[in-house]
Amino acid sequence: MNETNAVTDQAQTWRDDFSRVLSPVFGSPQLDLVRGAGVHAWDASGKEYLDLLAGIAVNALGHCHPAWVKAITEQASTLGHISNFFTSPPQIALAEKLHEILDLPSGSAVFFSNSGAEANEAAFKMARRAGGGSRPIIIAIEGAFHGRTMGALALTAKAAYREPFAPGVPGVVHIPYGDVDALAAAINDTTAAVFIEPIQGEVGVRQHPAGYLTKVRELTREAGALLVLDEVQSGVARTGSWFAHQDPEIGEGVVPDIITSAKGLGGGMPIGATITVGDANTKLLEAGQHGTTFGGNPIACAAGLAVLETIETENLLAHTRDTGEWLTEQLLTIEGIEKVTGTGLLLGLELAEGLNEKAIVARALEAGFIINPVAPGRLRLAPPLIITKDDLAPFLTALPGLLHG
Ligand SMILES: *Cc1c(COP(=O)(O)O)cnc(C)c1O
Repeated sequence: MNETNAVTDQAQTWRDDFSRVLSPVFGSPQLDLVRGAGVHAWDASGKEYLDLLAGIAVNALGHCHPAWVKAITEQASTLGHISNFFTSPPQIALAEKLHEILDLPSGSAVFFSNSGAEANEAAFKMARRAGGGSRPIIIAIEGAFHGRTMGALALTAKAAYREPFAPGVPGVVHIPYGDVDALAAAINDTTAAVFIEPIQGEVGVRQHPAGYLTKVRELTREAGALLVLDEVQSGVARTGSWFAHQDPEIGEGVVPDIITSAKGLGGGMPIGATITVGDANTKLLEAGQHGTTFGGNPIACAAGLAVLETIETENLLAHTRDTGEWLTEQLLTIEGIEKVTGTGLLLGLELAEGLNEKAIVARALEAGFIINPVAPGRLRLAPPLIITKDDLAPFLTALPGLLHG
């Protein structure tokens, strides 16, 4: 048997094993990855991949960063899990760090959970309590992705995700993207909250038109509705600011009432956070109205703290901004890339007419690059924030060939 056949047989074996014992919900996996280090991952045959997706904007520090590994292993050998009858130093330290980087006013509060969907579920329940429970309507935006659990799913725009699970959670209306008049027409004193991603990730990395978030904040204030910013994908330095809305060009100085975070926050450990800003906290959930067994778990919080501290010590905010600007410039010189959207290291590549994103991704994998076909005619890059220009060079060299096959 030659080497290529051996690799193919091995790939067939894990694919068969997968389909025998795992849910079909994700389709057939593209790779069987066994190891990671920094910006690279390896499959069972030893083939190396440059990881330009980072577990979908999760592995902010790359794979197995020493500071992250140390934090997790030390915490696991000290105190692993305790439930929310108790607290632990990493939980308090991570909440304090979030207060600091978001410059939160007093009264603000962090609720830890385990995922982005759960972070949005908590915000959804807070919205139900807004106005003493007398505001039944939540507004979300077309193109929005907020997660797959029933509450988060109701906020998610794509009908194909929601319809198989009807009846959904009631009270959510979706308004057209970027349309201030539509929001003005929809919002009133029955509106509990507007949920919005500062940059819409899953639709292909899309920023709102200039002035839109300012107007959303004005209209929510006037109506007495909460503004919930879903920063699950855009937060934790992904755009080169701690959270995307803190970048004046994205957030326009808007201060939200609730921020949700997950993905990059744990750098690969499951954690979510729902953060109430200022007195939003006092109006919302009371003791006993929400909970989670794992949320605030010491190991997940230790991982989160290592992520935030390493972003500081390795100066990754500036690095992410600079690398993202340079990468955008390089990408725009390549024939077949019409437009690059997003900021920092959350980038959407709009492809020229006739280029097929799925075929490009398949060719990229073959060539050793992990990239994502985020939407029709669009690729997404969300590499580890530690990635360098030198790491990216082989990809930029290969990309013209990958685009045109
Ligand atoms: C990924 C994502 C979610 C859902 O997070 P999970 O951890 O998969 O539940 C919610 N909102 C946004 C903006 C996301 O990108």
